[in-house]
Amino acid sequence: MLDYDFPLWRPPSEGDNLIIQATIGCRFNGCTFCSMYKGKRYRARGLDEVFADIDLAAARWPDAHRVFLADGDAYTLPTETLDAICRRLAERLPDLQRVSAYATPFNLLAKPAEEIRHLRTLKLSLVYLGIETGSDMLLKRIGKGSAKIMENGLARAAEAGLKVSATVITGLGGKRFWQEHIDATADMVNRVPPTYLSTLQLGLDEDVAQGFVERFEGTFERQDDHGVLLELKRLVERLDPPAPVIFRSNHASNALPLAGTLPKDKDKVLAQIDAALAGDRGLRPQWARGL
Ligand code: SF4
Repeated sequence: MLDYDFPLWRPPSEGDNLIIQATIGCRFNGCTFCSMYKGKRYRARGLDEVFADIDLAAARWPDAHRVFLADGDAYTLPTETLDAICRRLAERLPDLQRVSAYATPFNLLAKPAEEIRHLRTLKLSLVYLGIETGSDMLLKRIGKGSAKIMENGLARAAEAGLKVSATVITGLGGKRFWQEHIDATADMVNRVPPTYLSTLQLGLDEDVAQGFVERFEGTFERQDDHGVLLELKRLVERLDPPAPVIFRSNHASNALPLAGTLPKDKDKVLAQIDAALAGDRGLRPQWARGL
């Protein structure tokens, strides 16, 4: 067991993979809905600490082939640091196939495409990016840059051939802005499609709820499950990406787990949403939902 600095967050799809903490906390740490790293002061761990963890992990799990670099936006690290970490991983793990990390659009835009391509050659080939929404107005309200920054970040990754697993937060616009939220999100995904797209359902921890609502002039009426299903339906209807996007809503926060490749499986996914809207398909109970 590595000596992790908890809490330790990772995407659901990295659940079986080796996690190496390259940073502590989130360097950006400015999204109003997010409390994941509010209790941590950001720092990059020293390479000696990271190498020691890699060596320890490799001795214990020598056949590990996928590695996730934690914490919040480890792709913020300088390219030469990520280069050194990837090389150490490749030296110690002979079966290494993929290295991944969380990223923000700011991290992606801070690296020229050539550097991103270089890191890909070292197997850092996937980033997890919370696009949250394609709406410029909502991105500004949640403190996550702007639609232009988000779209440019996606475009930079695409230019460099970096795979992006993007997340969208259903319910983010509340009852007032849900249509703008979904329409702008679908438009952005259609313009710069990520490899994977998944949804999370908005949940606000107590320590961030007030600050989040303040950015909506103090009135934010949350979507209920029915409203979220309507959002999912509208999103899937409008998604028509020029390249296949693997779509999932299997995160534990979602009321309705969905899976398909869009646009190919659009009708199948819509039929599942319609069945849930009609009450013919059950939703995940509240007690079973979480981060
Ligand atoms: S970039 Fe990610 S981890 Fe950091 S504050 Fe925003 S949502 Fe949270």
